[in-house]
Amino acid sequence: MPVNFAILRDKAFADEPLSRAECQGIFQCPPEQLEELSQYVYEVRRRYKGNGVSVQILTNAKSGNCDQNCAYCAQSAVSSAKIDKYPLVPFEILGNNASIASEKKVNRHCIGLSGMRFRDDPIDAFCDHIRRLDSKTPICCSIGFVTRSQAVKLKEAGITRINHNLNTGRNFYPKICTTHTYDERLANIEMLRSVGFEICCGGIVGMGESDDDVIDMLLDVRRIAPECVPINFLIPISGTPLEASDTQKLTPEYCLKVLMLARLLNPKTDVRCAAGRELYLRDHHALMFRAVNSIFAAGYLTTSGDGIGETIQIIEECGFKHDPK
Ligand code: SF4
Repeated sequence: MPVNFAILRDKAFADEPLSRAECQGIFQCPPEQLEELSQYVYEVRRRYKGNGVSVQILTNAKSGNCDQNCAYCAQSAVSSAKIDKYPLVPFEILGNNASIASEKKVNRHCIGLSGMRFRDDPIDAFCDHIRRLDSKTPICCSIGFVTRSQAVKLKEAGITRINHNLNTGRNFYPKICTTHTYDERLANIEMLRSVGFEICCGGIVGMGESDDDVIDMLLDVRRIAPECVPINFLIPISGTPLEASDTQKLTPEYCLKVLMLARLLNPKTDVRCAAGRELYLRDHHALMFRAVNSIFAAGYLTTSGDGIGETIQIIEECGFKHDPK
């Protein structure tokens, strides 16, 4: 059933959730109406986020050797992907990236650690690194199911926000992971919130899920009310169970619909287009920024931080501005 775009916008202004039928209506929006829909979404984005775009960098501080079986992940126990595997990186690598983040005025430095459960000693070593950073750039951490006492240590070390994604809808979750449950993720997020962390929570689109699975995920993300909603589009990795995934569905138009839905359901939140941005959004970045106000710097972080300059250039060419805060 066609949806009234003005009603969707007004619901977002009132911070009311869209109904499932309204969410489905976005996925059914015909291509010739996408531009019009994006104008309504842009009104919401502009009211709460202006024309600013935040830029993040990512450091993978611990790689590989995870005992979980997340089907999309190169670091999982069931992946044969050829990746570098290492325990906690030396402090100098984090320190170098923190300097680049500060110098280039990126908004957040996201630090990822592979693995789902940690003994206390690696958490203590990681906290020592964070304390030594003395960084001016806010630090986020993507980490698994830490215990409450480990979460308190991370908070005291200076981490302000934790990324813990729902990844997909509840019903589809067992198709992408069987070594932990969707409910364990929800419980972990609740615990992290109670310790005082800001929450970064989103998911991955393109793993074979239905539109309703994406809607399930985004409605649950809205209930969590995170400070940031990262949306990743699957890049199939050779050696993972999803290596042969059919990503034909991930047209720029489809990806834009997902991002616009994420914005309408989370009007005041940072909505980030994360993995897959360059591959799937291609020359649709100007439309993308009508929904999205946060992206990762392009490419992998180099010692010169070149990807950050290129990313800011893309933002400006689309008529938006990097907002270093
Ligand atoms: S828990 Fe994290 S590192 Fe481990 S397989 Fe899942 S996504 Fe990869």
